[in-house]
Amino acid sequence: MPDPSDNLTSIEAASARVGKLRDELRYHAHRYYSLDAPEVSDAAYDALVRELEAIEARWPELVTSDSPTQRVGAVPSGQFASVRHAQRMYSLDNAMDLAELDVWLERVEREVAGRACAFVCELKIDGSSLALTYEDRMLVRAATRGDGTTGEDVTSNVRTVKSVPLKLLVGGVPSAPETLFDAESGWRVEVRGEVYMPKASFERLNAEQEAAGLPLFANPRNAAAGAVRQKDPAITASRDLSTFMYQVVEPRALGLESQTAALTWLRDAGFRVNPDIKPCAAGPDVHAFCEWALSARDTLPYEIDGVVVKVDSFALQDELGFTSKAPRWAVAFKFPPEEKTTVLREIRVQVGRTGALTPVAEFDPVVVAGSTIARATLHNEDEIRRKDLRVGDTVVVRKAGDVIPEVVAPVARLRDGSELEWTMPAMCPSCGSEVWREEGEVVPRCTNAGCPAQRLERLGHWAGRGALDIDGMGAEIITRLVEQGLLHDVADYYLLTRDMLAALDMGRVKQDGTPVLLGETMAEKLMVSLEASRDRPLSKLIFGLGIRHVGATVSEALSAAYGSLDALLVAAPEDLAAVDGIGPVIAGSIRAFADNAENVDIVRRLQRAEVRTAEERTEPARPQTLAGTTWVLTGALEHFTRDEAGAALKELGAKVAGSVSKKTSFVVAGADAGSKLDRAIELGVPVLDEAELDRVLASGELPSGAGS
Ligand code: NAD
Repeated sequence: MPDPSDNLTSIEAASARVGKLRDELRYHAHRYYSLDAPEVSDAAYDALVRELEAIEARWPELVTSDSPTQRVGAVPSGQFASVRHAQRMYSLDNAMDLAELDVWLERVEREVAGRACAFVCELKIDGSSLALTYEDRMLVRAATRGDGTTGEDVTSNVRTVKSVPLKLLVGGVPSAPETLFDAESGWRVEVRGEVYMPKASFERLNAEQEAAGLPLFANPRNAAAGAVRQKDPAITASRDLSTFMYQVVEPRALGLESQTAALTWLRDAGFRVNPDIKPCAAGPDVHAFCEWALSARDTLPYEIDGVVVKVDSFALQDELGFTSKAPRWAVAFKFPPEEKTTVLREIRVQVGRTGALTPVAEFDPVVVAGSTIARATLHNEDEIRRKDLRVGDTVVVRKAGDVIPEVVAPVARLRDGSELEWTMPAMCPSCGSEVWREEGEVVPRCTNAGCPAQRLERLGHWAGRGALDIDGMGAEIITRLVEQGLLHDVADYYLLTRDMLAALDMGRVKQDGTPVLLGETMAEKLMVSLEASRDRPLSKLIFGLGIRHVGATVSEALSAAYGSLDALLVAAPEDLAAVDGIGPVIAGSIRAFADNAENVDIVRRLQRAEVRTAEERTEPARPQTLAGTTWVLTGALEHFTRDEAGAALKELGAKVAGSVSKKTSFVVAGADAGSKLDRAIELGVPVLDEAELDRVLASGELPSGAGS
């Protein structure tokens, strides 16, 4: 497999990439661990972690202690009391395939140097880590993993989970060992494991969410983590959670010498322990268990995302120790991205913000790698021909690199003759205008700038994360705003008021027949997001305008080169093309955008709405007392250059011109002033000397009279 760091040729480039990767990973970790609402698949996240690890391995000097490769989870949200773990809660290192698993097995065998080393294989339950503390056999605390050092106190919630014993079974308690005896609370033990949501409960929960018009959970893991972190324990109780425990903290104090013994103790003490545990003498047994787990995955009533292989002996575990993030004595074998078959029902044409027509496959929903997918882009007509896809085909789907849904291929042998070949329509499916395919391009376009589908895409693009990032402004709300005439172009966003948003009809009705409105809470949230979006960097704004061929990188280059939207919009094509990374095509596209009166109008309305359109917001430092006056400077001044004097006048809001006309308000004449002074006298324009200019600049007041 190619090393993702191969294309980086210098430490500077690597350092820049590392910075971006870390930002991205922190963003997703926050969404995943704190908000329980991931935006990308686990495999996508893992792929980014892997890339970061590869770069850090190649340039170890770039490793920092706060890198996501060195840390576990995310800092606790502050919503719950925090719990400092007596012993750190670690994550696990991953083996992405059997070859990587072998590398780990060989390393362990090398390190134990010829001594017998048995392993235990356990299913890797896709839930959320949980630590339970018992004092004198009674449950006193339940905590999440948090960042591994500090977790959240979720005791009241976890008490409602039926499989968590509130009191340990007598049979599970050995004669109280000294080390676990606390004078105040008596005998104490901590156990750890996973709290999860069974697949059936997850499906039921999402069906209820959908019926209530509430957002769906991405997967059972996030639903479980969210249920454990509820403010109201009654909600946790209603979510049907279960647990599998797999670790005793300080097992040696209980006389336990191995993981298999610890699992038996846990079961005896009344915990739920997963029944599919396999002691393995050597590598081939480990492989066999992994293969079995992969085949059993779909039939299990709960999600698993791999197999955890652990060194059985605690004595050997102690010798192997930990990295900053994970034990060296365990590894998580992760399942490969799944492929499934389904039926291609329709090929729908989507109209993008620049009018590009993209065919999208709509297929029967299938769960692939933990989440349901029902559509995938087919890119263009040529791609459909190349893959020989027909409507009605049984098709293989997967998440490409476990990221984006993809139709891999049809299962042609299953055809029965009813399948239909597909051709690109000659009309735009949104507005009915004729579509146009430029010579040499694979993508046809709808050329109607007023096309409603393009408008929705443009509005969505503006609000998107890469652009103005209006948090909460999703496709559904945008569609409703457009439908109800409140939003035509991006400048209209800033005319929205809290009341307009709160009263927005969401196009659904409640059980009592009254319409579902967006409501105050969401309206307030959107107003905050809109306000924040007024002050994004210029590059985001340029990107948000959706100028054809102007992506995120080009936007950054333009922002750096021009510093303001006004400067960009008047730039000549040859000037634009001189910017690094910008060729005649992009330059032409920017000019076409700037020459369109509608676009200019949008920009002006954005500016009036106080959306920042320059790199630095230059707040006037001084009151603009000279606003509306035009000044001309002539001759040599004693204390400053003419440029400095001009800048000082501009700070007070004055305009400074190069020649004298009837519109000139004042002329400042230094030594040896020439024709400009003559002209001023001729036109009767008041003339000031340097001392008077000084007074104006110091006081900010207009001169009362003028000398000559
Ligand atoms: P991990 O899930 O890879 O493995 C560690 C965890 O496995 C342990 O903390 C434990 O809770 C759990 N586990 C389950 N069964 C176990 C068993 N039998 N023995 C021991 N541990 C067991 O690591 P992580 O740090 O918890 O999280 C990383 C995971 O979270 C990755 O899969 C990553 O893709 C995902 N993630 C996804 C996003 C996203 O945006 N999609 C963001 C952050 C993290």
